Amino acid sequence: MSTRVKNVAVLGSTGSIGTNALEVIAGSEGRLRAIALSAHGKCTRLLGQAQRFKPRWVVVTDEKAASKTDWSSLPPGTELILGRAGLVQVAAAQEVDVVLAGIVGSAGLESTWAALEAKKTVALANKETLVMAGALVTRLAADRGATILPVDSEHCAIFQALQAGRREEVRRIVLTASGGPFRELSVEQLKQVTVDDALLHPTWNMGPKITIDSATMMNKALEIIESHWLFGMESEQIDVVVHPQSIIHSFVEFVDGSIIAQLSPPDMKLPIQYALDYPDRRPGVSPRLDWNMRWQLDFGPPSPERFPAIQLGHECAKTGGTCGAVLNAANEAAVEAFLEGELHFTEIVPACRSVLEAHNFDANPTLERLIELDGWARQEVTRWVCV
Ligand code: MG
Repeated sequence: MSTRVKNVAVLGSTGSIGTNALEVIAGSEGRLRAIALSAHGKCTRLLGQAQRFKPRWVVVTDEKAASKTDWSSLPPGTELILGRAGLVQVAAAQEVDVVLAGIVGSAGLESTWAALEAKKTVALANKETLVMAGALVTRLAADRGATILPVDSEHCAIFQALQAGRREEVRRIVLTASGGPFRELSVEQLKQVTVDDALLHPTWNMGPKITIDSATMMNKALEIIESHWLFGMESEQIDVVVHPQSIIHSFVEFVDGSIIAQLSPPDMKLPIQYALDYPDRRPGVSPRLDWNMRWQLDFGPPSPERFPAIQLGHECAKTGGTCGAVLNAANEAAVEAFLEGELHFTEIVPACRSVLEAHNFDANPTLERLIELDGWARQEVTRWVCV
């Protein structure tokens, strides 16, 4: 077991993943150190984190927000870096051992790419990177000998369960889905859903984008594509089951019928800690299941009529190429439009499908082409909203 201190660059430290990661680091008894922190615009919170963790660097990507903040109370050994180039700089810095990629959406791609190029271990919480550019990102990691460790709770569970057998012995992987707040609603009732309804998640406390993705089940669609790239599974080998208690975080079914699952309370600290401490397991700050309580675990198939996103995820995982990037960008723009009150809840997935069907498919796109299509898909959603 390693006794050396691991230097962690926490990218997106003021978000939901980032704040959980800092709790894990604070509870690590000195074996993990936050060497870099980054935020987009939440400067006051970032400054507070810097005072507590005394990192070598803090990065602010929204330079306007940074200029309105008084940084005079920054600890003496901490350097402030402004702009997106700062993320790339700290992700590739020699002193960094692990990059926790916790920046939401396609904004996280550039720094993840830089970390992999620099042969870092990337604890990847940003699933959009794999959804958008899975073929290129996994190839880059393999070429450089960099490691991608999943922080998404489902993928962390699958990663752990896969260790129970050989790859050719795996029959399928099954992603569990809480079903979000609208699991029981009819198609008619779904049409009446408001922004406030969608932002209330029954089991997980997360940022707004992923909470809406969870309500539409687009989150599961993105996770199907993420699984395809992380574990080399075909679309047909990836299933989704609704499990409202969010205790089983996913499971692997082997050819003999054995199912290996990972269980823990719904809390992101455990998957974050697993990735940061990997390959070791250590005691930490994650909550534990109480076996003195009576537990009930329910499972059921997701309804394709009410949650058409899952089918879309399977199609994109199967077709590959530019589909993931277009789906991801269209969804980000559609979720934004929904949060702005410009799109109904039930229009999010159809908007994504129509943008996907209209796009100029390319089976082997370059990164530049993917970034270009990302911009195009967002524009298309804006047009869809205006119609
Ligand atoms: Mg997840």
